[in-house]
Amino acid sequence: MNLVFFGPPGSGKGTQAKLLKNKFNIPHISLGDMLRDEVRAESEIGKRAGEIMNAGKLVPDELTIELTRERLKKPDCQQGFILDGFPRSLLQAEALEQILNDLQMKLDKVVYFQVDEDEVVGRLSGRRSCKKCGAVYHIKFNQPRVAGRCDNDGEMLCQRPDDAEAAIRTRFEVYARQTLPVLEGYRQANLLATVAAQGEIDDVFARVLAAINDGGHQA
Ligand code: AMP
Repeated sequence: MNLVFFGPPGSGKGTQAKLLKNKFNIPHISLGDMLRDEVRAESEIGKRAGEIMNAGKLVPDELTIELTRERLKKPDCQQGFILDGFPRSLLQAEALEQILNDLQMKLDKVVYFQVDEDEVVGRLSGRRSCKKCGAVYHIKFNQPRVAGRCDNDGEMLCQRPDDAEAAIRTRFEVYARQTLPVLEGYRQANLLATVAAQGEIDDVFARVLAAINDGGHQA
C-alpha cells in the first residue's frame, strides 16, 4: 500500500506512521527525520537545512524532492511505503507525481489527519524525543517509563528546536499557506481519506486502519 500521511504539525502523523509501519512492515519515510539525520551528520544538505528547520520554515523544494526520489527508489518501497511530511507544497506534489510515474508506482491513498489547532499546540509543546534513536514521547500523553529518558536506550530526551513557541507559529502559517493547498488536488483525484486525529493514540490508529481499508469518508 502506497500512502501519503498529510496533516498540520503535531497532528500525530509521525506517531501513526510508526504504528502502521510495524503492522504492515512497510517503510515509514519521514522527510523531517531524514533532514534531521542530515543535520546531525553535518552533511551539505544538513548545513543548508538546519537553520531553516529550526525557524519552522520549509527547506528548499529541490532538497526534499531529491531525498524523496532517492528513497523511493530503494527496493524496500516495492512492498509499499508511508510518506510522512511530503509533499508539503504544490511543486512537491507535482514532483511526487513525476517520481511515482518514473518508478511505475501510484498512490493508493492520502490519509488526512484533521485536528484542532489548539489541541495540536499542546501536543507540540509537550513533545520530547530521543536524539539517538528518534523515539517520540509526550510529557502527558505518551510518557517514557523513566521521566526524561528514552525507553529504548536510556538517552536523555530533548525538545526539538522547532517545537519552541515562535517556530510552532511559523510552522502553522507555512502549513496554511504552502501545504494545505495540496489537499485539493488529492480530493479531486479521489485519494483522500480523512481521519479525526484527536484523542488517544490507539483510538486514532483504529481510525487510520478503517480509513485505509474502506477509504474513510471524503472530506
Ligand atoms: P516534521 O518532522 O515533518 O515536522 O518536519 C520538520 C521540518 O523539516 C519542517 O518544519 C521543515 O523545515 C522540514 N521539512 C520536512 N519535510 C519537508 C518538506 N517536504 N519540504 C520542506 N521542508 C520540509
